[in-house]
Amino acid sequence: MAKQQKPATRAVRMQTPKTAQKEHSTPLFLTSSFTYDSAEDMAAAFATESPEVNIYSRFSNPGVDEFVNKMAALEGAEHGVATGTGMAAIFSTFMTFLSKGDHIISASAVFGSTHTILTKYLPKWGIESSYFDMNQPETIETLVKPATKMLYLETPSNPGLDIIDIEYVAAICKKHSIMLVVDNCFATPAVQQPIQYGADLVIHSATKFIDGQGRVLGGVIVGKKELVHQLYLFIRNTGPSMSPFNAWVLSKSLETLFIRMDRHAASALAIATKLQGHAKISRVKYPFLESHPQYAIAKKQMSNGGGIVTFELKGGVESGRKFLNALEMISMTNNLGDSRTIASHPASTTHSKLSEAERQSVGITPGLIRVSVGLEDVEDILDDLLQALDNS
Ligand SMILES: *Cc1c(COP(=O)(O)O)cnc(C)c1O
Repeated sequence: MAKQQKPATRAVRMQTPKTAQKEHSTPLFLTSSFTYDSAEDMAAAFATESPEVNIYSRFSNPGVDEFVNKMAALEGAEHGVATGTGMAAIFSTFMTFLSKGDHIISASAVFGSTHTILTKYLPKWGIESSYFDMNQPETIETLVKPATKMLYLETPSNPGLDIIDIEYVAAICKKHSIMLVVDNCFATPAVQQPIQYGADLVIHSATKFIDGQGRVLGGVIVGKKELVHQLYLFIRNTGPSMSPFNAWVLSKSLETLFIRMDRHAASALAIATKLQGHAKISRVKYPFLESHPQYAIAKKQMSNGGGIVTFELKGGVESGRKFLNALEMISMTNNLGDSRTIASHPASTTHSKLSEAERQSVGITPGLIRVSVGLEDVEDILDDLLQALDNS
């Protein structure tokens, strides 16, 4: 067998077979359906219930498959399936594997809309959830019940940047036959591959670092073949599928994922280091700063610290607003993982639906600023952050 190419090479080189035009770059397969040479071929296609034969772009599409296959390869997974958004990936996972009477254990620090699904929608179908603090993994096992089917977490978490030892959690899940689902959105497979540490399914909002340029929405789930096939059938029949156009954009994005993540992380570490000890900041958090409470775990399971830095302004909510208003270059928006540096204030935006107590419990303090470090020259990013701090 030929030597397996390195992940960064596969991110560039894995491609849909060339058409008769012998194009170098994969074209956009903007078609809703596919044709057959005979009634027998068409009957055979419908009999497969697999994405291997193209029928209709809600079921599969060559461009979507290219994106999914690359993501599976980069995560070290057997298979994958794409969705229109990250939330569609998360919701499809819950709907496919959880039934009435089942129980799910989740980290309390999860993406705002994920928290909303767990607390507001799953109970409507009789699915109960329990929560653990990412900083107290030893409490997880006490939450396990006979009805527990799934354990869900993000590491690093959004926006608290809490980190948990995936291998440790996977061992608990294995012992109790619980499916471990990890949202790997903040790290990307260029930085961390949860399957290597025992995760059963890995989910991404491809909207973030995977696209990396703030253009399209997308989601993807990868994992063991038999699990992904169940997800595939759910998505094929209920319709939260990825658009071929977005898949084309996202597959091109993956070609630059590794160099982008290296640059995001190098700049983020430089900024985090520089901001530590600033007179207006009480605390800086970044996975690869030695002061991070789970620094040792971050070093074990991540190849760099990723592109997100958070800090706490001593002046609380009022300083947070002043800081955002003083920014000149850095964008004020709630997205992340863009080539353009973004600053946000979670307490008044992404996590505003949570109560004050819920925000406190996931580490979202009034003066918390989240910076998604972009690809601009790091000196320009720092200049803008420092002048905004002076004026906040
Ligand atoms: C953005 C995000 C999601 C949701 O993804 P969408 O593409 O916006 O639906 C889920 N998890 C995390 C960690 C995110 O940052």
